[in-house]
Amino acid sequence: MFYDISLPLRNGTIIYPGNPDILVAPHHQLPKDSSNISRIDFGSHSGTHVDAPRHVDTGAMPVDQIPLETFVGPCRVLDMTHCADAVRIEDFEKYGGVKVGERILFKTKNSLRGFEKFYDDYVYLDGGAADYLAEKGVILVGIDALSIKQRGSKDFRPHASLLGKGIVIFEGLDLAKVPAGNYTFIGLPLKFVGLDGAPARAVLLS
Ligand SMILES: [Zn+2]
Repeated sequence: MFYDISLPLRNGTIIYPGNPDILVAPHHQLPKDSSNISRIDFGSHSGTHVDAPRHVDTGAMPVDQIPLETFVGPCRVLDMTHCADAVRIEDFEKYGGVKVGERILFKTKNSLRGFEKFYDDYVYLDGGAADYLAEKGVILVGIDALSIKQRGSKDFRPHASLLGKGIVIFEGLDLAKVPAGNYTFIGLPLKFVGLDGAPARAVLLS
């Protein structure tokens, strides 16, 4: 069965503070026009989206050049709903650690609280845990927050350590309905050339 783990995109969908609003409006409309066409305005980090290495390094790989194999394949959803503020190294050790080549998604309290409203105190990935995941050589990590990094923190490792090693980050996942376990992940970002990131439709297949 399919689990849709993407946030719905519409006017008013939550955005990370400082990002462009998501705006959707009719451009052509029946019956006045010959068809319905909408105009969409959004930031590259809107809704469920991919952070490409270019997000934190202008010379690094843009979203359209990430190998497609990264975005499709086996994946593990880890239950991190016990984490009070951050996902830390010991939380991965609890599950026997992570292995090279894995896709790892963390389900935290963020999914249980929902995405109707932006909360400043979302659960994030700790810098040490980012270093740990980068060292282990996972290929993709995903979190149910619009940023993997604590808001306002000067510890940039959650982005820098992962993206610096070419590890793709998914942000804005909704894992509320997904039990922890093993799945096939499919999440393909829109093919915006040269960009730092792009929205994606992400699903889990069990
Ligand atoms: Zn992002």
